[in-house]
Parts: sequence; C-alpha cells; structure tokens
Amino acid sequence: MQNQYINEMLDLPELKIHQILSIDAEELHIEAIPFDDKQCCPFCHSHQNVIRKGTNGKRIVRHLPAFEKKAFLHVPSIRLFCTRCEVGFVWVYEFVGPKQRYSRRFRAHTFELALGSTAAHSARLQQAPASTVQHMHNEAIPLESERIIEQVWEEAKETLELVLGVDDFAIKKGNTYNTGIHNLKGEAMLDLLPGRKLEDLRKYAKEHPAFLLLHPKAVVMVLAKAYHTWIRECFPSAIRIADRFHVHGYVVESVQEVRKSVQQTLSPRAKANLKANHRLLNPPVESLDEESRSRLDLLLNYSSLLRDMWEWKEAFTTWYNCSPNFAVARLGFERWCEKGNQIDHSAVRSTLETMRNWKEEIMNYHQCRWTNATVEGRHNRIKAFQRRHYFIRNRSRYKAGILIECNHHRMLS
Ligand SMILES: [Zn+2]
Repeated sequence: MQNQYINEMLDLPELKIHQILSIDAEELHIEAIPFDDKQCCPFCHSHQNVIRKGTNGKRIVRHLPAFEKKAFLHVPSIRLFCTRCEVGFVWVYEFVGPKQRYSRRFRAHTFELALGSTAAHSARLQQAPASTVQHMHNEAIPLESERIIEQVWEEAKETLELVLGVDDFAIKKGNTYNTGIHNLKGEAMLDLLPGRKLEDLRKYAKEHPAFLLLHPKAVVMVLAKAYHTWIRECFPSAIRIADRFHVHGYVVESVQEVRKSVQQTLSPRAKANLKANHRLLNPPVESLDEESRSRLDLLLNYSSLLRDMWEWKEAFTTWYNCSPNFAVARLGFERWCEKGNQIDHSAVRSTLETMRNWKEEIMNYHQCRWTNATVEGRHNRIKAFQRRHYFIRNRSRYKAGILIECNHHRMLS
C-alpha cells in the first residue's frame, strides 16, 4: 500500500499518513495524524485523565525532501485537557517541536549543509528562505559546539600518552592572533584563546581548570618563548617539542638568504637562472624528479658556498628522518651544528644561534615524533571560515563556529 511506503520513507514513527493532499512537480503535501490517541499531561505526566477537545486547525511542517520534491506535512493541532490538573495543552509533535515550521530533521540537515559553506548556500540547496536558514543555523551552532567541545575534551582526558599541539593563527590580516590548542593524537581542536602572549596564556590556564587536569606526555609548539614557558608552568613533566616543520623553515630560509647573496656575485645569465629556479633549493632532493635534479645540480655548480649550504639543509632532513633514537639524534645534532659552523655566512650564524637556543626542544622530536602538520591543515580551514564569516563580531559565536569547523568532519565519521 502506498501510504505504508510513504510512512517508511518519512521515517516518522509517531505519525500515520492519512492521505496525500496534493502532488505536483515541485511540492508534495501529505496529511498525517498522530499514531497515538492521547498524550500525557505535562503536569501530572499521566494520560489517564486526559481528554481530547478538538483541534486548533492544521499545522504545516516542512520536512526533508521526498521524491525530490519539497515535502510538507499537514498535522492537526490537537487540543487536550487534563481533568485532574484542569489544564489545557496542545499536542506535542516530537519530530518538529513546539511552534516550529520546519521538522527537526530538516533543521539538522540544513545546518549540516551550511557547515563548510554558508547559510545562504544551504538555503539555496534546500530552497528555503535565507533568513529562516540563517536562523536555524544560529540556533544550532551553540548546541552543536557545546556537544563537540564536551566530546573532544572527554576524549582528551581519556587519551593515554596525550600529545597536544599549540600554535597561533592570525585573525584576518591584522596583527591580532589567536592560540589554538589541539589534541594531535585525537585529531581534534580543543579550544582557542585570544592572543599569544604569556599573560594571555596564563589567563586562559587560570580560567580553565579542565586544561590543567590534562596529562599530556608531550606538547608540540613553534619556537616561541611564551608558549614554552607557559607549557612548562602548566605541565612540568611534559616533553616540549619544537615543531619540526617550523624548525626546518628556519634552515630553508637561511638557504635562500645565502642564495640571494651568491646571486649578486654571478654573471647576468647565471644570476637570472638561479633566481628563476630558486625554489628547487627548498624541497628534499628525493622529492624532485630527474629533470629538476639536473637543473638543481646546475645551480649548485655556480657556487661552492651555495652547495655547502644546500647540503647542510639536506643533512638536516636526514637527521630528522633517519636518527634511530634519542641518543644517536643528540650526537647527530652536534655534528650537524659543527658542519654549520664551517659555513661562513651571517644567515647561517643566526640560524645556528636559534638552533642552539632551542636544542633540547628540537632534539625532543626524537623522543616523541609528532608534528603540528595537521594543525597547519586546520589553519587553512580557519582562514576559509574567516573569509566566509567576516561579519561575525560576537566572540563566542566566532569561537563556536571555528570549533565546529575544525571538528565536525571527524564527528560525522
Ligand atoms: Zn494532569
């Protein structure tokens, strides 16, 4: 029977399909009635003394599309009365909730569509008014983010050998920053706080006792004093690790500094060639194809300083990739610094100084091999989110939006 089929498709067990009112190319209108005959009194929670007192007309509720048409359910607004409590009330439909014109499923689905894009986009897909969808979205965000935050913190508390990542990201193009706190093992963003100065960080720890209750085995961070001081204060026994890609970035930068000064000394043709191909110096050699390798070799032949520098950078990659344990890594790091000492260039001296200052944190990678690579990916999501929602002024909305943005894909799986 057709009604039976529609019943199953709508998957609303509290309703019985009564009849199809109309169906055309765009819309499907279905009349339905509650499966049950009575509902409990909201005061005494019993249905024993509840009687029906007719209806207040029909409610029309938009539900998920059916047969690729907009689907509307027409349900009676039933008046009920409890003779014991002497109160009247109306039928509560679970699938929609009081006073709503869109079913819960429709709202949830519309909200899902708006994640990763905008409410306006979701409104177009759902063929619903943009303002309505925006409203659904605004309503769903605080609840959804609360649910997500609770879940990711619960997971973090229970993770054995938790590894945290701490990193900053810019708010738009300005010079204001947020700090993100991530569970690297759990691939979740736990929180974000305004600023990145020590005082901002300390304030956060003071106001968030749950943070101090975490027991991270290790924390991965950029080379910023404030972060390391803060983490040492909060988690004295955690291994503090300098983020590998950030550290490597210093070395690559000094390769380019050397390249620029070498460039000045070359013939116009060599100079132009080096300048045009300077990016070949950055990636590890094994990631280059045959043709790129021979072009690179040509560049390195221009100057022994440049070749020494490039080899020093390659040796750093090898040190990261191939040190079998912490003890060997310690020796290897010293040897690598020694090699750097033999390169006579101010950029190398300054990089070496940074490396020496952060020696322990850099070497700690070999105690616990985690990086903030996933955090970097999340920063791209955040940037895209900030571009789409440039209008968000409200701090808690902004924060809720970002936490949903960075975690909801994981939640769905
Ligand atoms: Zn009652």
